[in-house]
Amino acid sequence: MTGNKPQRSCLGCGATKDKGTLLRFVLSPDGCLTPDLKAKLPGRGAYICPCRACLGLAIKKKRFPATFKSPIPGIDLELISSGIRAMVTERLRGYLSLAAKAGEVFSGSDAVAGRLRGGKVGVLFIATDLSEESRKKFAAMAGHAGVELVALFDKDSLGTLIGKEHRGVVAVEPGGFIAPIQRELEIYRNFFDGEV
Ligand SMILES: [Zn+2]
Repeated sequence: MTGNKPQRSCLGCGATKDKGTLLRFVLSPDGCLTPDLKAKLPGRGAYICPCRACLGLAIKKKRFPATFKSPIPGIDLELISSGIRAMVTERLRGYLSLAAKAGEVFSGSDAVAGRLRGGKVGVLFIATDLSEESRKKFAAMAGHAGVELVALFDKDSLGTLIGKEHRGVVAVEPGGFIAPIQRELEIYRNFFDGEV
């Protein structure tokens, strides 16, 4: 036993880990395999490490039908991975707008650059449609400050999420939102090979 934390085994690699660090799946009422990111959906759960490799292994070894004791049609690695990315993206949107409502984000090139230099940024979102020149500038500054850089949303979306006009750079202050945002980003990247 590792403390009192409930443990589960990954259906892919077989490793036993804290339940909270694994990704839960349930069967929907119509019998489809459904990622349960909040780990709150009712019914029996199946667990994997939150990464594409373990999902792929679990599918290959036909562990989901075995665990749920039911044939599950339409299990597809690509489809499930992109579904997980879409869910995680939604959750990131939610965290960003909550952080904005809590007054823990700031935006605009000058404000963000100043805060980056002052070491007061937890995570930096840059717009996917930011100019190449600005992207390089902020990537270098974030790298220098050891701040995680995320390019998932365009200027319009970034602005809307924080209740403003379009924004090219949005920084989240070090605080309570950083850990959950980083956890979502890690899952996103685990299911996605490209740069975000
Ligand atoms: Zn695993």
